Amino acid sequence: MTKQYETVIGLEVHIELATKTKIFCGCSTEFGGTPNTHTCPVCTGMPGSLPVLNKQVVEYAMALGLVTNCRITQVCKFDRKNYFYPDNPQNYQISQLYLPIARDGYVEIEAGNGKKKVRIHEMHMEEDAGKLVHDEWDDTSLVDYNRSGVPLVEIVSEPDMRSADEVIAYLEKLRMIAQYLGVSDCKLQEGSMRADVNLSVREVGAETFGTRTEMKNLNSFKAIAHAIEGERTRQIELLDAGKEVVQETRRWDDNKEHSYAMRSKEDAQDYRYFPEPDLVPIVISDEWIAEVKARQPELRTEKLERYKKEFDIPRYDAEIITESKKMADVFEETTAACGKPKKVANWLMVETLRLMKDHGMEAEDLAFSPVNLAKLIDLVDAGTINSSVAKKVFEKIFTDDVDPEKYVEEKGLKMVNDEGALKETIDKVIASNPQAVADYKGGKEKALGALMGQTMRAMKGKANPGIVTQMLKEMLQD
Ligand SMILES: [Zn+2]
Repeated sequence: MTKQYETVIGLEVHIELATKTKIFCGCSTEFGGTPNTHTCPVCTGMPGSLPVLNKQVVEYAMALGLVTNCRITQVCKFDRKNYFYPDNPQNYQISQLYLPIARDGYVEIEAGNGKKKVRIHEMHMEEDAGKLVHDEWDDTSLVDYNRSGVPLVEIVSEPDMRSADEVIAYLEKLRMIAQYLGVSDCKLQEGSMRADVNLSVREVGAETFGTRTEMKNLNSFKAIAHAIEGERTRQIELLDAGKEVVQETRRWDDNKEHSYAMRSKEDAQDYRYFPEPDLVPIVISDEWIAEVKARQPELRTEKLERYKKEFDIPRYDAEIITESKKMADVFEETTAACGKPKKVANWLMVETLRLMKDHGMEAEDLAFSPVNLAKLIDLVDAGTINSSVAKKVFEKIFTDDVDPEKYVEEKGLKMVNDEGALKETIDKVIASNPQAVADYKGGKEKALGALMGQTMRAMKGKANPGIVTQMLKEMLQD
């Protein structure tokens, strides 16, 4: 009988904090930019430079810890993690090992078999490294220190997940929390959220864990799901062949759908951690914790409650809209501008989600002005454009944020309600489709649809469909 295996997964998630400046200096944290322009002696590791801790980083980390049910470490400190790598100019990273900012929390996820808690072992603050660029030159690598010193929180989970679905649900939950708190935009494609996956397999019923491997810096949910499936299969094949899994760090190549060994897994002792001598310990008072708690913005559960009272939209709609903070913001601003919450909800849940999928976008990338969607809804309600034209106009709002009033005017998209113009067109359609006319008169209701379609096409989609149907019926009675 073949053996049954269980997958055991723990995650280390790095979230880049959305502070204006870096963790230990005043340089900008803005993504991209000309290489090595957001830099100074501190974040390029110049001798004699000294770090100064950004208070906002501590508060963002505390906010994350509190919402995920962690204990805040009220005397915490930084440690040096020593290693050489060209993207790390100090030859050490300022991180936290002994007294991380938060510990022992959990988040609740929903995947497959219902609700489940994923425990958080700890959360620590640290600085990001620079970026090496290898691709464009054969024999040269370049280094960009703009990202060096951007603040990160690393969230280390317990090995509580058992499938790719649970991992994705956990990441989505963390992302939602961070976005609602406003502490990070969590864009996977820009690297402001990254996950390292620790995975092992064991026979079902086994008490101890198998040997784990770590896969680093996976930057899309799809890559994470593929990497988990690929690594699980690889480990099971090794065990079934009587071989051993080696503890190591592996890199997943999503194009080749294959992982390969990078290095044998290092332990904490390999980094020669020691307390960071240039920074004093951080003392967090009860008052400070209370302050951060009091400043906590409205989270999803509270939003759902408020939507029920304030907007009277179905729970289902509210849940979809509040899945991301950004979408909820668009909903609230559009509703404020037009006062029609259910219609706004429909545009977001149907057309907006469809276009996001087509363009491979996430809610965070939505860039159109809520006021333009509000105007579009008003144009439809006023009978100025019909709903199929409205969908086309919305595509332009979605991609180019056009003002729908101007756009409809310029492109001549107003609905034709003029019965004279319609009568002329319908006459022509009736004259050139004798078969459909005969079918309709013979009792085939469907034939009306064909004639209707012809008329709408002849009117370039701008006719008022209600009036066309009514006029067709009348004119076919003769
Ligand atoms: Zn700097």
